[in-house]
Amino acid sequence: MDLSSCRSNCASHSSRISKGGGAFGEHKRILADAYAGGGWRVPELLEQARAAEDLWLDSVSQVRIERWNNGRVALLGDAASSVSLFGDGSTLAMAGAHTLADHLAAAPQTAFARYETQHRTLVDPRQANIAMAAALMVPATRVGIATRNLASRLWPAAATAGWLRNQVIPRRRPAQVTT
Ligand SMILES: Cc1cc2nc3c(=O)[nH]c(=O)nc-3n(C[C@H](O)[C@H](O)[C@H](O)COP(=O)(O)OP(=O)(O)OC[C@H]3O[C@@H](n4cnc5c(N)ncnc54)[C@H](O)[C@@H]3O)c2cc1C
Repeated sequence: MDLSSCRSNCASHSSRISKGGGAFGEHKRILADAYAGGGWRVPELLEQARAAEDLWLDSVSQVRIERWNNGRVALLGDAASSVSLFGDGSTLAMAGAHTLADHLAAAPQTAFARYETQHRTLVDPRQANIAMAAALMVPATRVGIATRNLASRLWPAAATAGWLRNQVIPRRRPAQVTT
């Protein structure tokens, strides 16, 4: 494999990434420290990252605030409630904008409060699930990492078995409704 054109994605625990970015050189040091001593082709990947001019490193964060509206101001999208890590942010941002537009058209005086109440029913459960998903995806212990790696190796076989089962035993069609 030619690593000179390789694109890779790394995720690890760190408290060193400052909010709002940080210096490019510091990002390279954080990455090198996090993966120092790694086997396989990690040294080659770190060398490529050290030489890269397009390295992007950021913290994975979630925005949770008490209120999304105050007076004549309402927050939408990530500013109100980023979910992070497993997508859904764009979807929720658009759904929130749609909900707000609906309420503004119906009753402008109470639109912000109604938008927040309604949209939180979509956002809150997703935000609550992320902590568990993040712990599974980026474990903090060696046992957790080994379990995650084993699960990710077994997953394709489990998915294939499920697909084969569906081919052999077709799903039952829903009963026809006649009126
Ligand atoms: C790496 C990554 C992968 C993601 N993958 C997914 C995915 O697969 N699916 C998914 O649904 N979501 C994903 N998301 C989340 C998604 O990108 C966001 O939730 C979504 O873009 C939020 O939309 P937004 O309009 O609230 O904010 P943004 O898209 O961040 O838009 C805010 C805009 O405001 C501008 N801005 C900031 N400050 C100022 C200022 N002072 N003046 C003027 N303009 C300003 C910014 O430049 C930006 O253009 C991902 C996010 C990241 C970082």
